[in-house]
Amino acid sequence: MLDRPAAVTIPLAPMLDEKALARALSGRHFIGGSLVAARGGKTFPVVNPATGLEIATAAEGDAADVDAAVQDAAVAQKAWARMPARKRGALVAACAGVIREHVEELARLIALETGKALRTESRVEANTVADVLEFFGGLGSELKGESVPFAPDVLSVTVREPLGVVGAIIPWNVPMLLMALKIAPALVAGNTVVVKSAEEAPLAVLRICELMARVLPPGAFNMLSGFGPECGAPLVAHPLVRKVTFTGSVEVGRIVAKEAAAKLIPVTLELGGKSPMIIFSDCDFERTVTGAVTSMRFTRQGQSCTAASRIYVERPIFDRFVAALAARVDAMVMGDPLDEATDIGTIISPEQFAKVEGFIAEGAATPGATARACSAMPADPALRKGLFIRPHIFTGLSNDSRLVQQEIFGPVTCVFPFDDAEAVLAEANDSEYGLAASVWTNNLKVGLALAHRLEAGLVQINQNLVVQANLSYGGVKSSGLGKEASLESMLEHFTHKKTIMVNYAE
Ligand code: ADP
Ligand code: MG
Repeated sequence: MLDRPAAVTIPLAPMLDEKALARALSGRHFIGGSLVAARGGKTFPVVNPATGLEIATAAEGDAADVDAAVQDAAVAQKAWARMPARKRGALVAACAGVIREHVEELARLIALETGKALRTESRVEANTVADVLEFFGGLGSELKGESVPFAPDVLSVTVREPLGVVGAIIPWNVPMLLMALKIAPALVAGNTVVVKSAEEAPLAVLRICELMARVLPPGAFNMLSGFGPECGAPLVAHPLVRKVTFTGSVEVGRIVAKEAAAKLIPVTLELGGKSPMIIFSDCDFERTVTGAVTSMRFTRQGQSCTAASRIYVERPIFDRFVAALAARVDAMVMGDPLDEATDIGTIISPEQFAKVEGFIAEGAATPGATARACSAMPADPALRKGLFIRPHIFTGLSNDSRLVQQEIFGPVTCVFPFDDAEAVLAEANDSEYGLAASVWTNNLKVGLALAHRLEAGLVQINQNLVVQANLSYGGVKSSGLGKEASLESMLEHFTHKKTIMVNYAE
């Protein structure tokens, strides 16, 4: 038995006072079914980006915490893998039920710690978490193998087996959902999990662990908070971690992939995007403007891997489209993330804020470029230290501008006119990234031809939804390796196929 630091418990009943809940979750990892302090006793502050005020602390994990969590997960995995797959699925689906009862609580907490607006983003995310757990919870009986016609008198079959302990590293933009997309298939497939949360958003995901523990056995599911090199890296490197699934930057994705290569373990990487949206003159105009507003993910301050950050509009409707888009964004309300009237909240951190402002300044200073700053800063003096950035729509930039080539992860989009489908396809594909793309036209011949030739993991015509349960999600080029969100992704990325042969010849 490991020596265990003191645990705290939080009432199961939903806590709608998000500040009290943040304090109750302060300074804790979730290991072996309990909320525990870091072994080294260290913590770091969690700050509300709408006010700049500290709302909680988070446990600062290091290699000793990683080892404790992984050891617990490894012990738990033996029993978890022996449980019938449908039973595991039923338990994961039961977690969805607990989450549903806590949607409002989780939505308020995530809005507090990330600055994402309650109505447009945070509540949607909390509901989607339950949806994802329900979806994967129903897939236990799909962990099937095959029988192989090898030879007469030899029964040759394949079976799907779990990989062991999975290390999951998540970012801060949609932490609850991205965690669910990793842990649900991992658990249903018979693995146990250690999650490393993002340092900017450790609280709501921690509460989810604590809620899921009402249903799942201790150790099945563990969470550490802390920084990348001190806590994420030892998780990837731990010898008992047999698979890593990571969502984050290309730069860190490469570091994770290198370590996984050294250990010869599989890795799934979801690493950003620079998603093009291609709009033809024959599109349904109003629907496409609405689609563009959703696609730019400005309600999430553009902090989305699939944000339409490059919009190519056929020249005859270009001016009208830019004007309509700017008018629609102007009508969006920036304000207190916890206010129901708010459409747009804050940027996550001062570092991201400075980065996004740098891109905007560079775009505005580019000769020939026009920057349209939309919406209005919130008037409330309590928010004056908030990390609000007005959404910006740029025109007049060239395809090689840094704003067009690099992922900004902020409320910035660049709009270009085009005359020719071949030329626009070449521009759209002229990117290091290849996560998502969309085409807007009533000519489905044109739309489908482009869909086949766009270099992206997900192409949508006349819509641009975020990741959906049951549809494989993941990019090509620098956007990553492997898929998430689907049955196939669970089978491919969280199991291995074992062959068993029985010779029954006389
Ligand atoms: P961002 O820059 O948007 O925060 P990152 O890729 O830096 O994206 O972070 C995504 C996640 O990866 C976070 O949980 C972070 O702590 C973690 N991370 C950062 N560096 C490392 C590393 N060297 N090894 C493992 N995880 C890391
Ligand atoms: Mg980083």
